[in-house]
Amino acid sequence: MDHLLEIKDLSVVFHIFGADVQAVRGISLQLNKGETLAIVGESGSGKSVTSKAVMGLIPNPPGEIATGEVLFEGKDLVKYSKKQMQKVRGKDISMIFQDPMTALNPTMKIGKQIMEGLIKHQSLSKHDAKNRAIELLQLVGIPNPEKRVDEYPHQFSGGMRQRVVIAIALACNPKILIADEPTTALDVTIQAQILDLMRGLQEKTGTAIILITHDLGVVANLAQRVAVMYGGKIVETGTLDEIFYNPKHPYTWGLLSSMPKLHAKTDKLLAIPGTPPDLSNPPKGCPFAPRCPHAMKVCTEHMPAYTELSATQKAACWLLDERAPKVDPPATIGV
Ligand code: SF4
Ligand code: MG
Repeated sequence: MDHLLEIKDLSVVFHIFGADVQAVRGISLQLNKGETLAIVGESGSGKSVTSKAVMGLIPNPPGEIATGEVLFEGKDLVKYSKKQMQKVRGKDISMIFQDPMTALNPTMKIGKQIMEGLIKHQSLSKHDAKNRAIELLQLVGIPNPEKRVDEYPHQFSGGMRQRVVIAIALACNPKILIADEPTTALDVTIQAQILDLMRGLQEKTGTAIILITHDLGVVANLAQRVAVMYGGKIVETGTLDEIFYNPKHPYTWGLLSSMPKLHAKTDKLLAIPGTPPDLSNPPKGCPFAPRCPHAMKVCTEHMPAYTELSATQKAACWLLDERAPKVDPPATIGV
């Protein structure tokens, strides 16, 4: 199968204060044309670092891609120069971040900010770029685009600013859009509107999306496939249904248990007790072992290999070994 993006054995290390923090540890992932792949996990799991590696935005120093390839349409972006990556960014792969205020230049009219990429990457004239900017504002659902194109970021609400950021990201019809916690900074109603918007835009444009989030509610709304990251590794991948209805990794169980339930009487979240591993000294065995209620001796000593559970689902857990005791997922998971 031809993948649009293929990450192979990617490791990212940060050399900080004399320590080597192994933020991403040998992950492999594929993204197909037009799909939405969610990468989920707690903060520090390596999901944002993964997306930055794809964008060529790992600051070096202190960061470094220690191993692996990021193949985009068959070409390894890890080998690209800064200049080559600048061309890829904004044109083929673009990114939207959590906080729209930091993504926008407060001193520049939003129309100008949308036009920049169009003039640079698509060689549009100023006049055409402005018309396209107005079109894009319309596309992302901003009323009165002819007038608003000449306004500054502070004249927009948080939700409207995130729409502007999405318009900038989509300006050059990228093949991949990376959305890192795109709705975290927004309140719940606006969140739902932005997710609706992204879903609609994807149907129209066919852009593949990598959605980075800690929020499984967001995942359920947008993704077709899910990769669960923990301690710099991918511990489970599967289709949305496989991850939500037939998860096999205890960390995925923990994430699902901590998800607010649709009809729950309480909105108290069941957090997973404990803290993520110290990646300057990562555990030898399963990274989740110190927090896992099912950890066995082997878990702390040897990294579990992936078990293929279907053509689309795999998980790395010793419980999936045929010699392991049978353990059922907790009753707290499920929608
Ligand atoms: Fe838990 Fe062991 Fe599975 Fe890791 S390998 S998730 S510690 S049971
Ligand atoms: Mg992050």
